[in-house]
Amino acid sequence: MAGPRAVLEAWQDPSAAPLVEIRNVTKTFGNFYAVDDLSLTIYPKEFFSLLGASGCGKTTLLRMLAGFERPDSGRLLIGGEEVTHLPPYQRPVNMMFQSYALFPHLSVADNIAFGLRQEGLPRQEINQRVAEMLELVRLSDYAKRKPDQLSGGQRQRVALARSLAKHPKLLLLDEPLGALDRKLREHTQFELVNIQERLGITFIMVTHDQEEAMTMSTRMAVMNEGRIRQLGTPGEIYEHPNNRFVAGFIGAVNQFEGRVIAQNEKQLQIHCEITDSNLVVHCEHEITLGTPIAIAIRPEKITISTVASETIEKSENQLTGCVEEIAYLGDVSIYHVRVAPELLVEAQLTNSARRHTAPLTWGDQAWLRWKAEDGIALLE
Ligand code: ATP
Repeated sequence: MAGPRAVLEAWQDPSAAPLVEIRNVTKTFGNFYAVDDLSLTIYPKEFFSLLGASGCGKTTLLRMLAGFERPDSGRLLIGGEEVTHLPPYQRPVNMMFQSYALFPHLSVADNIAFGLRQEGLPRQEINQRVAEMLELVRLSDYAKRKPDQLSGGQRQRVALARSLAKHPKLLLLDEPLGALDRKLREHTQFELVNIQERLGITFIMVTHDQEEAMTMSTRMAVMNEGRIRQLGTPGEIYEHPNNRFVAGFIGAVNQFEGRVIAQNEKQLQIHCEITDSNLVVHCEHEITLGTPIAIAIRPEKITISTVASETIEKSENQLTGCVEEIAYLGDVSIYHVRVAPELLVEAQLTNSARRHTAPLTWGDQAWLRWKAEDGIALLE
């Protein structure tokens, strides 16, 4: 029996039929390349996120899928059918806008029914679908209210219900949680994923919020300047960023720039100019000596201590510096340690972990250690 994992990992299955195919799509505004020769394949039932900073082209890509923008070149296919030149209403797609765009003079139920009425569905079917959708988003008791009598989170759920009522194959969501406060946002993230899983509709979401993309997506694409810089599951992208841009964009990371001075099997030795020290990092590939390279290391992989380690293994790194800043976040504390005049390193300590040494405080000398295998060697 194929379990849910098998369904979710369709992108690894060469026989799986894609739902969305974006083939070498380019979109310019004047001389500016908003989307630059971009190709991407998305499979049925995925919750896919397009993640990137403001202006990277993610909304333009979404709008081309919806049919609100025409590509200059390239092709768009949905369910194997070419839609590149089809108007929005002929595509099996719905889009949920950032502003929700609810009709203020219509009740919640009428907002949800609006698209179904336009399609000319029989009244009974419309009523049934509206009731189903209200139940799905837990707003059955609010059917008669107007949008201005709802909270931000409730309006968001009405907008979702309205975009799902037509049973689109594909729902495009532009910053769907952008208007919600932090707490409601976290709660709604789970709700949205549950609804998506229950309905089995493919979601493509645009967001600039990396935590949101990481929590909700089956896969995500990190975009910059109209191109995809990395595509993968949240875990792959967090644990194995394959370039400096992605490493720096996703989560907190320390980057040490240097040059390769030695390679021993799967370990590179790098001379880092800024700390004037040699660091080691795991690397599967053969790299020419002298190649410029960066080592990326996440704060939670660094251990921090008030005492130096007497024995340092060949596969370990140790740097020392002065504690400049401490942020206590409850479950974890974050330390900023100055290891060189121009370099602060961030290390994270779980507060529940049993301490073997005295607690660190501002101005203390601290020793930072991490294993070669916990760092990531970045060539690009
Ligand atoms: P945001 O998160 O701010 O919405 P985004 O990544 O979604 O950003 P896009 O809206 O896709 O970015 O825009 C990409 C680039 O294209 C931006 O620099 C934007 O100014 C430009 N752009 C978008 N639409 C137009 C337009 N109609 N005319 C001219 N330039 C445009």
